[in-house]
Amino acid sequence: MVELKSNPKRFLPAIKSDSSHLWKIEDSEELYRIKSWGQRYFSINAAGHITVCPKGDRGGSLDLFELVNALKQRNLELPLLIHFSDVLEDCIEWLNSCFAKAITHYNYPGIYRGVFPIKCNPQRHLIEDLVRLGKPHQFGLEAGSKPELMIALAQLDTAGALIICNGYKDREYIETAMLAQRLGKTPIIVLEQIEEVNLVIAVNRQLGIKPILGVRAKLSTQGVGRWGTSTGKRAKFGLTIPEIIQVVDKLREANLLDSLQLLHFHIGSQVCSINAIKDAIKEASRIYVELAVLETNMNYLDVGGGLAVDYDGSQSNFHASRNYTIQNYANDIVAEVKESCSERNIPVPTLISESGRAIASHQSVLVFDTLSVSQVSFESPEPPLEGESPIITHLWEIYQSIHKDNFQEPYHDVTQLNEEARSRFNFGLLNITERAKAEKFYWACHQKILNITRQLEYIPDELSDLEKIMASIYYINLSVFQSSPDCWAIDQLFPIMPIHCLDEEPTQRGILADLTCDSDGKIDRFIALRDVKPILELHSIKSGKPYYLGMFLQGAYQEVMGNLHNLFGDTNAVHIHLTPKGYQIEHVVKGDTITEVLGYMQYNSDDLAENIRKQIEQALQEKHITLTESQRLQQNYEQSLSQYTYLSS
Ligand SMILES: *Cc1c(COP(=O)(O)O)cnc(C)c1O
Repeated sequence: MVELKSNPKRFLPAIKSDSSHLWKIEDSEELYRIKSWGQRYFSINAAGHITVCPKGDRGGSLDLFELVNALKQRNLELPLLIHFSDVLEDCIEWLNSCFAKAITHYNYPGIYRGVFPIKCNPQRHLIEDLVRLGKPHQFGLEAGSKPELMIALAQLDTAGALIICNGYKDREYIETAMLAQRLGKTPIIVLEQIEEVNLVIAVNRQLGIKPILGVRAKLSTQGVGRWGTSTGKRAKFGLTIPEIIQVVDKLREANLLDSLQLLHFHIGSQVCSINAIKDAIKEASRIYVELAVLETNMNYLDVGGGLAVDYDGSQSNFHASRNYTIQNYANDIVAEVKESCSERNIPVPTLISESGRAIASHQSVLVFDTLSVSQVSFESPEPPLEGESPIITHLWEIYQSIHKDNFQEPYHDVTQLNEEARSRFNFGLLNITERAKAEKFYWACHQKILNITRQLEYIPDELSDLEKIMASIYYINLSVFQSSPDCWAIDQLFPIMPIHCLDEEPTQRGILADLTCDSDGKIDRFIALRDVKPILELHSIKSGKPYYLGMFLQGAYQEVMGNLHNLFGDTNAVHIHLTPKGYQIEHVVKGDTITEVLGYMQYNSDDLAENIRKQIEQALQEKHITLTESQRLQQNYEQSLSQYTYLSS
């Protein structure tokens, strides 16, 4: 269940039209909530522009508006997705320092070792930055598919950093992961399906390499939010308790029980409520302790992803927010695991989290420009002329009668009269000039009523759409689907605001419509302290002056979701046509190979293979790998590159 902050219709406009008030940048700060979602990274400067502090509290800042202008002078046209690697570094530092503080505070006799889930943002430059910036913390990578494993193996060269191997696995995936131990890497194969244990045992017999294994538990704890079904009995991934026991038995039989070192769970992304996290940790800690008393080698507890981002800055358990801080998150994990282990006198595990969103969101901003605005005309109407239709006179009277104690009834009357004007026009009883006049009255009455309702504490339900009906449409130079697919596909909220003019009052209220012919290509839901706003406060566009908007916290999932989620490219497609004799395959459309999808992310597969070849050569020289093993690893790696991204059976 997605929890709503309250009835989303009862949206109250944030600006009270008050002409005596001089607009200050503080008003913009409050209106766009930039201090809350912007954390230490985004604020507004005296010029009314957005300032970025990519190093957080560690100093240094730049003016986003000026940056965009400078980029434009280098022929980098909008829309522009701007990445800040310093923000990435700061987020890595922050997460690690929160766990470090919790570990000190609770005297936890163990460590934290984070991994980044590649699916969250697989762009090569980001992964390279992440590996480099994460080195001081031995930050590792999480692979959720075979192409992601190939990235992790070639890119992660940090000694001691973990490679968590999740997702569906075929024999090649498992062999490759095990053989990678010979290159000095620490791949942990997380068993998510019962069949995978048989494959692991078979590969172990064949290669004689002892795997490092984990199990993914399907917790009974219900997740919350949009991805809440990632856990619970009906979850897609993970093993139930009886299945975990089955895995333990099989491993014991194969003499591999001591390979089992890790317990993993994942209760969904953007978990907005700390209670859901606490419940999950409690259950997982109990399972961990029970596994640790067997002849396993339990050593790691991996709490998965789910660490949420406060997109609307409301610090609530609304789906676009979170009702906890990263420090609260770390504290709860550390305290709970310590308690469960000390109850049974079990050594505490190394804690792992697979936090994607929390690390990658803030580092990128999408800046785009507005092309034009379409507005409802607000001119005050002329009184009726001699001989005009009685409808016009009637509308005029209604228009005159609207005041702060009388607006609901006129609203209904005017709606009805507008309908009547339409049908009279269709019957030839109203000429086109009269029809135009009637329509003008209709909008003028709406505007007058809207001005009244904006001053109210409570807006009657039937009038709650007025703001939306009267909103201007700002045409933006963007494809929402291409650039921010979650905004389009799952109505995810992202902070959107002008990046300049913030020292002026935004007198317009608008929705955004993109360049695509797609009627879905619009944005009409915006962040608010309470609820979701149907409009965004914007400035009038001055002719000849640019008006730039920024969509923030874009770094997680958006870049890759459009068509390459998890680096699964297009699937092979066949078009089947039924015939009297059965069917006929009309078209076959081949899907992407791993080399192709990696190429879209700017990886060169020859370079990747060469990188692995060098590492194998070194391992051979140092006699860590046998010639046969090395041939097999090289062959698997190279073969996979030319294969389809989906698994082979
Ligand atoms: C998606 C996913 C993550 C990342 O989740 P975030 O909420 O972005 O931190 C981590 N682990 C697994 C198994 C996932 O599927």
